[in-house]
Amino acid sequence: MKKFKVMTLGCKVNQYESDGLSQYLRKSGWHSNADETCTDLCIINTCTVTQKASMQSRQAIRKAVRKNPEACIIVTGCYAQTEPSELEKITGVDYVIGHSDKHKIPSMLSKIAEHKNSHPVTICHDIAGEKKFANFPCPGRGGRTRAFLKIQDGCNNFCTYCIVPYARGRSRSMPAGEVLHNINTLQTAGFKEVVLTGIHLGYYGLDFAPPSSLVEMLRQIHETRPMDRVRLSSIEPHEITEEMICLVASSGVFCHHFHIPLQSGDDSILQRMHRPYSGAFFKELVQKIHGLLPDAAIGADILVGFPGETDDAFENTYNLINEMPVTYLHVFPFSSRSGTPAAGFPDQVEHDVVKTRCRRMRELGIAKKKLFYKKNIGKISKVLIEGKRDRDTGHLKGTTHNYIPILLQGEDYLKESIVNVRIESVSEQGRVCGLLFKG
Ligand code: SF4
Repeated sequence: MKKFKVMTLGCKVNQYESDGLSQYLRKSGWHSNADETCTDLCIINTCTVTQKASMQSRQAIRKAVRKNPEACIIVTGCYAQTEPSELEKITGVDYVIGHSDKHKIPSMLSKIAEHKNSHPVTICHDIAGEKKFANFPCPGRGGRTRAFLKIQDGCNNFCTYCIVPYARGRSRSMPAGEVLHNINTLQTAGFKEVVLTGIHLGYYGLDFAPPSSLVEMLRQIHETRPMDRVRLSSIEPHEITEEMICLVASSGVFCHHFHIPLQSGDDSILQRMHRPYSGAFFKELVQKIHGLLPDAAIGADILVGFPGETDDAFENTYNLINEMPVTYLHVFPFSSRSGTPAAGFPDQVEHDVVKTRCRRMRELGIAKKKLFYKKNIGKISKVLIEGKRDRDTGHLKGTTHNYIPILLQGEDYLKESIVNVRIESVSEQGRVCGLLFKG
């Protein structure tokens, strides 16, 4: 039996697409290879959102070539779409396939996966005009407890720092009927939770004729309940409506969890980033979510060191986060991406300054997370238990609907089920322990 390995860098959307490709290969008689070596086919699904992501992608490709000199090496993903010529230069690569053609990999495999090429072959077309949502096979279990489902791709916003619209093209959405069908398929496969993902999820449905919306899709999910629980990935601040918050609060299907890509709390920086909201808007939004859903996890992405970010501008972001009931942060240093407007902005912030600001912001994020965890002590929460135990303690591990990772003692039959857990303690390191609640 032929063996394959898929390596994934970057976001949940890439992860979803990799899971779909793996599922296709398994169904076609290939054997998934956890081993580093002796693989016949390696697919490296790259990311280029930062310089570091590009570097890690190149490293992953070189490692795959080194460990599997006889394997067919296919490189795909955002880096393959934006800079195919860079990846063609890596010795041992057989195919560079952009996002424009990534969904065709399954149908190409029988022809391309059998042999090595003397020179890399690039299959990559202009993605800017792509209007059709590219379907991937629905992911199988593959060792995961929680499924990702990409329901939207691409972005029309062109924030001045972001390479993603160039890599993934304009916004396009999966038809509502297919979303419901796919969630059903995932439920039948045994998943208890699905995470709805997209590149710009808030654009969902706007490309339909007549246009629809994300909240309309969520209403259909609420009415048909195709899965025990549904989590939303990142949604832009101005696209989280009161209607959406009320639906999440009242439905019982949606996790009480919002992840908001704030990026900056300073209005002048937001304007330069081409982000269409203000710090005050974010403040009002978080207050609204917290008012309607006091137990909700509210996460934020923060981009530190954008060109022109003065000490005052950074403090504006820091103070805004500090004041708000934000429960965790994902902090990223600004990374200049060639081809984006921000790469040419003159007032780049010094590396050491960015590093110090990132450290402060991350410390704030850790403190806020711990505070949120502690506020939940004594509460009973629905926890999805994972298939694997915690490596250090041997305890079961799971995640509450409001995104608290939790450890508890229990038997194996609890794995991959949703159980009630009382949150008991939070350690100095932020480790949360709970007890099975049978009341
Ligand atoms: S909204 Fe901005 S940051 Fe998000 S994918 Fe689109 S361009 Fe990039």
